[in-house]
Amino acid sequence: MRGHRILRALLIFVLASAGLTAGAVTVSAPAAHADECYTWSRTLSSGTSGSDVAELQIRVAGWAGYGVNMAVDGSFGAQTQTAVRSFQSAYGLGADGVAGPATYSKLYELQDPDCTPLHFSYAEASENCGRGLNGNGSVSLATARENLKRVMWRAEALRHRMGDHPMRVTSGFRDKACDAAVGGSGSGQHTYGTALDLVPADGGTTLCGIAQSARYAGMGGIFGPGYPGHSDHTHVDIRAGRTWSASQCGI
Ligand SMILES: [Zn+2]
Repeated sequence: MRGHRILRALLIFVLASAGLTAGAVTVSAPAAHADECYTWSRTLSSGTSGSDVAELQIRVAGWAGYGVNMAVDGSFGAQTQTAVRSFQSAYGLGADGVAGPATYSKLYELQDPDCTPLHFSYAEASENCGRGLNGNGSVSLATARENLKRVMWRAEALRHRMGDHPMRVTSGFRDKACDAAVGGSGSGQHTYGTALDLVPADGGTTLCGIAQSARYAGMGGIFGPGYPGHSDHTHVDIRAGRTWSASQCGI
């Protein structure tokens, strides 16, 4: 996927150079990433609705505010507006709460061709005892895949909120057998693809830092240091409601 980006950038550069040499073609720079996953075709603002709003909501849900587990319902309401405004502000865009070309351009930049966010991948999030993403969890393969995408976008927001310090996913989707094998209930959030276990991948943050920031990143479930079995990772998930516990982190 990186290779595609580099090739595309190179191609754009070559085309731009050719245009400049010929003196007949103007190429606006820098060119936004073309989007291989999803492309928005209209500006979205408060009151709009549709599947394009839902696609937007999936990608900005980690910016709706403290304790807000935003619904992905295809209806652009107050939470979506807040999330878009916070996303824009966090990435240095004009924060007007309206999703237009600049916002889409940033989202395309953050998006891989398979619709996952830049710093998280299906491969990393579905080790699953060596079995990868499959339909043997609590939901179908397609639903697990969609759920994983949604929690990864919130993790991307979490990562950016923490100053872009990298995190590693130690466990994401687990099928029922894998969940039971690693000491889970066999039917928990991981079997739905809605959960990620995260650890810091550099010295820039801590397990408690992840847990504390996760409260602002649309995570309905947060379990970290102080919660039994969570001394070596922070678990986040997108369950409905709010179930947080990390007593060593003041949560
Ligand atoms: Zn977990």
